[in-house]
Amino acid sequence: MLEHSAIVEDVNRCVGCRACEVVCKTHNNFPVNQSRIRVNQIGPERLSGALSMEYLIEIGGDCDLCLLCVSICPAKALVYCQTTQKLLEYVARGKSEVVMITNVKDYDPSAHLH
Ligand code: SF4
Ligand code: SF4
Repeated sequence: MLEHSAIVEDVNRCVGCRACEVVCKTHNNFPVNQSRIRVNQIGPERLSGALSMEYLIEIGGDCDLCLLCVSICPAKALVYCQTTQKLLEYVARGKSEVVMITNVKDYDPSAHLH
């Protein structure tokens, strides 16, 4: 089986602070309002009588897996799963979305984390 690694979002944890967008923009030296990661606000909407709002993360295919967004997230809503096994275990835990996936088997994130 082809080994995959991925960045996964725990939708229950994200608070929409957009620190991930800012660090990605800075890392890539992008102009204002441009980054490889996007925070999409869903809501507010009324569900079963209560107001609900969610933030869904989206990462573009040009992401270089620097993992700065993962390391800076104050809510620990972004998780890097280095193996397919870890990815499956994480997704099985609860409300999570796979936001970026790669089959770069021997990718070493420690070389990129500061
Ligand atoms: S993923 Fe983390 S850093 Fe990005 S908006 Fe959500 S809480 Fe903030
Ligand atoms: S891992 Fe990708 S999305 Fe996250 S900061 Fe780095 S380039 Fe941006």
